[in-house]
Amino acid sequence: MPTAAELRAFFQTTYGTTPEQGVRAPGRVNLIGEHTDYNDGFCLPMAIEREVKVLLRRRPDQTVRVASMEQAGVVTFALSAAIPKATDKAQHWADYVKGCAQVLIEAGVPLVGCDLALTGDVPLGSGLSSSAALEVAAIHALLAAAGQTKTGAEIAVLGQRAENRYVGTNCGILDQLSSACGVLGQAMLMDCRTLALTPAPLPAGVSVVIADTGKRRGLVDSAYNERRAGCEAGAKALGVSHLRDVTLHGLWTAHQEGRLAPLARQRCEHVVAENGRTQAAFAALRAGDAVAFGALMDQSHADLRDKFEVTCPELDTMVAIARSLPGCLGSRMTGAGFGGCTVSLVRDEAVAAFVPALTAAYQARFPLPVAVYVTRAAAGAGAL
Ligand code: ADP
Ligand code: MG
Repeated sequence: MPTAAELRAFFQTTYGTTPEQGVRAPGRVNLIGEHTDYNDGFCLPMAIEREVKVLLRRRPDQTVRVASMEQAGVVTFALSAAIPKATDKAQHWADYVKGCAQVLIEAGVPLVGCDLALTGDVPLGSGLSSSAALEVAAIHALLAAAGQTKTGAEIAVLGQRAENRYVGTNCGILDQLSSACGVLGQAMLMDCRTLALTPAPLPAGVSVVIADTGKRRGLVDSAYNERRAGCEAGAKALGVSHLRDVTLHGLWTAHQEGRLAPLARQRCEHVVAENGRTQAAFAALRAGDAVAFGALMDQSHADLRDKFEVTCPELDTMVAIARSLPGCLGSRMTGAGFGGCTVSLVRDEAVAAFVPALTAAYQARFPLPVAVYVTRAAAGAGAL
């Protein structure tokens, strides 16, 4: 990650002037509660110690310029209710920023022009939500330039809207809400229906270890849409708007009466059970019971593998190796699946040996670039 001084120097060489303000927004890791957010269910994420930083300077006009240390070139656009998307693929990354500007304008926020320079160390496309970190940071930057404020939940909803409607990715609220509202040292039970967050500290004596399999998701839109369709079919068969309101018994009854196809039922069983597991995991956190928490992580992975079918050999292998190592209390895939990262709960005294052992054993099976991050829970987005 470039240092604060390097980002400042990048701003100066890009725009020939000095920045006035800075903001930051973290990535996130979801500890449990996967594929539940768009079912109005529960997740249990925390913000991580990897983030997007933005420096900004106001302009006297309605122009926004944005440059990223991780991308080539400066992207310029005029603030309006219809900002054109990138026609050049190399500038697609700036659509996340344009989308944020557009949804703010649609929401009636009087924006002003500004120059933005950013950098981030959330790995791109590995399930730690670099896109949400970028959106939440961009919204903070645009609001700061305009002298406006919004609550964390409002910022999260705007960021999600930018990703859904402007970028065109059908994500739930988990990523943006984690980045906007993270709490230092705490995980958060997230109710994706009400957007209520209830923090709870991680148990003493354990660390959160993220392992990037090096496998990138690739083209999985159709698979993702099939999972969402299965969830919607289940809710419809049971006469509710979302699977949040469904029980395992209800699914069984619908299946017995022929109202729910076997595959849709299988998808729904994961979601319904995962909502229960996530609430149980929160209770375990409150009780300081890291062992119970880890067991629920293991169960979550098994259902994501066998019922929701969003894992892959790389994720399953990383999880199996982690579980075989001393001091590991639980391990699962995190994020949408089909590649990306796992998250493991590891006893503090075992972490130093766990990290190289996991890396070596995984690389003996898959010659992919592995990255392991030991992280504490970071604070949500705000001023630098
Ligand atoms: P994830 O959110 O899991 O990391 P996504 O595919 O949703 O993966 O979002 C990744 C995209 O976000 C990148 O391809 C890029 O367009 C954009 N992005 C994230 N961080 C940065 C950054 N530091 N600079 C420029 N673009 C970024
Ligand atoms: Mg994303």
